[in-house]
Parts: sequence; C-alpha cells; structure tokens
Amino acid sequence: MDVGGTKIATGVLRAGELHDRRVQPTPETGWEAVLDAIAAQVLDLQARHPDAARVGVGVPGPLDMARARVKFAPNIYGFTDVPLVDGLRDRLGQRIVLENDAKAAALAEAHLGAARGTGSSVYVTVSTGIGAGIVLNGRIWRGRHGIAGELGHVTVMPGGPVSGAGLDGALEAVASGTAIARDASYALNRDVSTAEAFALAAQGHPAARRIVNQALKHIGVALADLQKLLDPEVFVIGGGVASVGDLFFQGVQAAADEYAAGFAPVTIRRAQLGTEAGVIGAALAAQQEGA
Ligand code: BGC
Repeated sequence: MDVGGTKIATGVLRAGELHDRRVQPTPETGWEAVLDAIAAQVLDLQARHPDAARVGVGVPGPLDMARARVKFAPNIYGFTDVPLVDGLRDRLGQRIVLENDAKAAALAEAHLGAARGTGSSVYVTVSTGIGAGIVLNGRIWRGRHGIAGELGHVTVMPGGPVSGAGLDGALEAVASGTAIARDASYALNRDVSTAEAFALAAQGHPAARRIVNQALKHIGVALADLQKLLDPEVFVIGGGVASVGDLFFQGVQAAADEYAAGFAPVTIRRAQLGTEAGVIGAALAAQQEGA
C-alpha cells in the first residue's frame, strides 16, 4: 500500500506482478481516519487474497529509526507523530511493515525496474512532495536517524517559499507538483493544475514556461549536487510530475549536465514501474522483512 498526499494506492504483489490495484482518496480529516481507511483496504484485500500474508505500507514522510512511527507527513493534513504500526496492529491484529514512500519506490526500481542490475542508485520522486531513496549494494541507505534521502527538504533558496515542513526555500517548496501548480495559479490568476502548467509550457506560454523551467532546473541542480556527494551509478526519477515525460526529463537532464560541470556524467533514467513503484516497493519491504 502506498499512502500519498492525495491518494492511497493498494495492490497485491505476487511473483513480481501487481494484482487487484485500487486507488482511493486520502482522507483529509486527520491520521485516525487515514489509518481506518488503510485498515479497511487491507481487510478487504486479505479477504480476497487469503495467501497475501504480509502487509507493507509506504508513507510520504520521515519515520523513526524503529520504523514504527511516522514523524510527520508534510503533505497530509494532521499527520504528525503517528504510531502507525501500533495503530494498525490494534485495527488488524497483525504487524505491518512501515516504509517511507520514496525508499519503498527506490527498492522496487532497484530490484524490478530501471535500476535493476546496478550497484548504486538514487530514486527521486517528484509528486505532491519530493523525496528520494538511496540504494547501496541493493539495500536502502537510511543514515543515523533514518532520514537519509529527504531531498525535498534540502534548502535550495533560503528566503524562498515555505514548505509543508515549515522550511523556507526547500526543494519541494520550489519544484514539486504543488509548487508548480501554486506558481502557475498565481501567475495566471486562476486554478491551474501541474499537468496544465506543463501543457501550457509545451505550447510556449511565457509564464508557464518560466515556472516549469525553474522547477526543472532546481531538480537537475539537485541531481548534480547528489552526483558530487554520492556519485551513484544512476538516478531514477518517478512520481506524478515526472510522468509528464519528455519535457520533464529534457529540462532536468540539461540542468544536471550544466551543473555537473565536468565532474562526472549524471545518468538519469525514467522510472519503469511508474506510479506503481510505491505499492510494489512497500510489498517488497514486507516480503523482505517478513512481517
Ligand atoms: C516527505 C518525504 C517523501 C516525499 C514524497 C516529502 O515531503 O518528507 O518523506 O518521500 O515528500 O512523498
């Protein structure tokens, strides 16, 4: 299961294939309601797939080191210090495996998708927020406190717009789908979705082009910085905004090349598992860790 800022996606993973995929809106009335929705889906799927014994849940926020609690999910209303594993054990009578959404997707792309066969990769999701999963030797690098890969909260423009985590100038405050829609809506003085902003940019609309290009430049620069810090074999980019396609990848690659400045090439691949990477990765985490 992949809990997102706007939707909860669920499926059953069997021999590397996702079955019975479902999507429902994320409740906006606080974390108890989100846990109720997760539990209802799990019960329903387990009734239909009694052999699906293990449950993995990916969430869009940093976790504690024990991966029992979500510290906060910047883009889900009221999702702060959530005892997700205990809360679901109470509701389901079963222990689930909790994973950060980007780390789950990184695991999926490394094992079954675009980074298969590589020794090191960084998966970046560009969606409501921005997150990353760092994979070294087939394993997720978590760091000392479990927050390694929180790319969306890296400060790229001090004094810039404030993110859902309350930080000014964080990457996701200037380059996520939310940021692009916010800026395009302001510039055009009406509600503009991220997809429409990209469509207008592709048609040459000056303000939309400027907004989209700025966002892509920030993402490309972040990848060039990561290349200098970690020097991974490949980057894989997924998430709803990346699924826009050519315009997205051309802009990001151009900025990454410019800012890599001859240190090393930045190899960027498109996510192969698309928007299913998060669900598949959560299931893989549960399989690997044997809940
Ligand atoms: C969260 C990350 C998450 C990313 C993508 C960020 O706001 O802090 O944990 O991976 O959004 O959902």
